[in-house]
Amino acid sequence: GEKMKKLSCVFCQWEQLTIILENDLAVGFKDIRPVSKGHLLIIPKRHRTNYFDLSEEELLAINELIHSGKELLDNQFAPDGYNIGVNVGTYGGQTVMHCHFHIIPRYIGDDPHP
Ligand code: 5GP
Ligand code: ZN
Repeated sequence: GEKMKKLSCVFCQWEQLTIILENDLAVGFKDIRPVSKGHLLIIPKRHRTNYFDLSEEELLAINELIHSGKELLDNQFAPDGYNIGVNVGTYGGQTVMHCHFHIIPRYIGDDPHP
């Protein structure tokens, strides 16, 4: 049931993470294994397995935090570009089965295939 899912899902424990961005329906925090300096993750607060399970309201809330995250990273690290992305399903490279958007800052000269 929903309680067991919450207990076994690492991102459902978001209140235990160091949250740096938050609104009603979504939160953002640093990726534990950043592929570049400043790598952030944005997730819905409620357990949603993947991108296609998100409601319109959650998509808007997540998009708001993606923009806030970009502003934060622009100010902090002045990256030269970004990769914004979502992996869907095991064969799409998704390893945590609670939907998350990657905000990956990119820098001139960095490895394009980390
Ligand atoms: P995926 O491959 O599923 O798209 O990405 C999962 C991401 O979640 C990875 O970049 C991984 O480093 C990150 N991650 C996994 N477990 C944790 C955790 O407990 N805390 C944080 N902050 N990030 C995590
Ligand atoms: Zn979850």
